[in-house]
Amino acid sequence: MKEKILIVEDEKDIVKMLEYNLKKDGFKVIVAQDGEDALDLALRQYPNLILLDLMLPGINGLEVCKSLKKEIKTASIPIIMLTAKSQESDKIVGLELGADDYITKPFSPRELIARIKAVLRRATEKDKLPEIFQSGDLNIDFAKISVKVKDKPIELTSKEFELLKTLLKAKGRVLSRDYLLDTIWGYDHALEIQTRTVDVHVRTLRKKLKSAAKMIVTAKNYGYRFEAED
Ligand code: CA
Repeated sequence: MKEKILIVEDEKDIVKMLEYNLKKDGFKVIVAQDGEDALDLALRQYPNLILLDLMLPGINGLEVCKSLKKEIKTASIPIIMLTAKSQESDKIVGLELGADDYITKPFSPRELIARIKAVLRRATEKDKLPEIFQSGDLNIDFAKISVKVKDKPIELTSKEFELLKTLLKAKGRVLSRDYLLDTIWGYDHALEIQTRTVDVHVRTLRKKLKSAAKMIVTAKNYGYRFEAED
């Protein structure tokens, strides 16, 4: 699956340069020209990483960073700040607010892409699941792809297993139907397969999970999240 990068930058030339180079490197690109747009797109499109210019019209980049990190749905999306030499102190504030890295303008596309890949790699490491997950009646062995409820093996289809795994990986964050569709069924199918597919699969998954079904929580009109039991 192509990783999706959200570029937040108002300077059109820089956007063009970034877009060209990121696409050439196999990334999917979405663009926001101001902070409000950025927050909206991050919530709706769930990018894998955000390139955030600090000098923006309206809400500035640091405020955008703060809002993204405060919102549970976007808090774990890695952020690389684009800064100018004169913004040394902003850079430090940004890192304190939770941005993952920064790059100072002017930069080479190659350097930026190397940074992006490093940040994405770190984020994937952090998101890794334990080999065995245990919560309440539910036990999942990811190495063996086996799911048990109250010690009884449960037969899941590959899509149902992926669904469960994706929800678990989000660690309690709400995932939209669109995001689940993109992640599990792939972009190519997104047009033909309706978001209702997700609901249908959640329904069958819950049925199979029996007493553990309540761990899959519905976020009304939006999607689903996983809530582990203590
Ligand atoms: Ca700018």
